[in-house]
Amino acid sequence: MSTPEPRRLVVRGCDVLEVPAEGECTVVSGKDIHITGNLITSIVPTGRPVPRAAEILDGTGLLATPGLVNGHTHSPMVLFRGAAEDVPVHDWFNKRVWPMESNLTAQDVHHGALLACAEMISSGVTTFVDHYFFPEQIAEAVASTGIRANIAPTFFSSQGPAALAETVAFAEHWHGGAGGRVTVSLGPHAPYTVDDADLTTLAVHARRLGIGLHLHASENLAQTESSMARRGITPIEVLERTGILDAGVMIAHGCGIIPQDYAMLADHADRVAVTSCPKVYLKHALWPLTPIRDLLDLGVTVAAGTDGAAGHNTLDVWEALRLVAMTQKLETRDAMFLSVSDTLRLAMRGGAAAARLPPGAGALEPGQLADIVLVDLSGLHHRPLHDPRAALVYGVQTNDVKSVVVDGRVLMRDRKLLTVDVPGLLAEIDARTGRLVDTSSGASVQFYDP
Ligand SMILES: [Zn+2]
Repeated sequence: MSTPEPRRLVVRGCDVLEVPAEGECTVVSGKDIHITGNLITSIVPTGRPVPRAAEILDGTGLLATPGLVNGHTHSPMVLFRGAAEDVPVHDWFNKRVWPMESNLTAQDVHHGALLACAEMISSGVTTFVDHYFFPEQIAEAVASTGIRANIAPTFFSSQGPAALAETVAFAEHWHGGAGGRVTVSLGPHAPYTVDDADLTTLAVHARRLGIGLHLHASENLAQTESSMARRGITPIEVLERTGILDAGVMIAHGCGIIPQDYAMLADHADRVAVTSCPKVYLKHALWPLTPIRDLLDLGVTVAAGTDGAAGHNTLDVWEALRLVAMTQKLETRDAMFLSVSDTLRLAMRGGAAAARLPPGAGALEPGQLADIVLVDLSGLHHRPLHDPRAALVYGVQTNDVKSVVVDGRVLMRDRKLLTVDVPGLLAEIDARTGRLVDTSSGASVQFYDP
């Protein structure tokens, strides 16, 4: 029996955003992007012959960009969008989010993850770095929608050793699943909810499996100060002592990372990433922000993320990267910091590295994964178009995303989602909302006291 021919796709007649490893991003006009299977094979001037069997995606008048990466989220938390507003972080966890999460069933998480995948595909996100309960349900949503994800099953030490074993079993079963679109990281929630022995055990498993870890650490300065007062060491030092840094880790937020952490992070810079999600810091009135300039100087990978939609309201990574640029300019009092090119590179190449995609991912180049977004910059809010790169960072709206390709497959064409039954999904979501926000039982998944 002969093996079937790999799928061929040509994105025809588009402009292409080039995102080099350093220097200015550029836009080149009039290209065809040839894709075989899940990889970009060539990018050539448009008008040359196209293989007869190839599917054509018309890119005329559109800008092809690398797919966005949501560097840290909790995808099913779209179910709690707008249900925890105008509260400080303690109340956000203890009075709203952790009580609401005790209502979740596996089916709730499945439908929440589907909604999140649909929202992300429709806004140009091709990969997300997730951390949540019922990870099998998320993996199945990723498998069916065609998006790409690195999924960490959330673990608290209070759940006990059987739950730890389950998270390891999830990794053993799902890492490399859905044709390689699902990868797994181990997901201790944070150093304040997972004890050192469990952190050490999870780091050993991660090294054994050749996967990374994903956790919250030094989320804000109060957590760092509390760790110093209780234990005499910072949360980053906890990660160092327990082998988490050595195994390789994606740290969410890191706003409480302080200069005494820098040498430890520099020593592990080839395997540590930090994702900044500024909208949630702004909403919770948390300061300082992720020290992105210092982290980049240390050689640490930095990405942009939304965190869960219970805090961020959307899973819009254009908004997230825009807020990263704007808040960092203010934080550093330097309008030159995080230029348009550096911001696109952080979100695209940095995001891909944070998601542990293959080296060089996050750029449209031959040999790279065919994760491509076609953006329409012809709207009134972009005219006249002096600089399409600036339009992407500071002006683009999610509806400007017209078509999306993940792993060589078209998932949205001219704003129509091809892998999600949107009306059916919304009916499932609407049927669940009242029960999910009812906190009258008094139950909660955890208590926030870092
Ligand atoms: Zn988070």
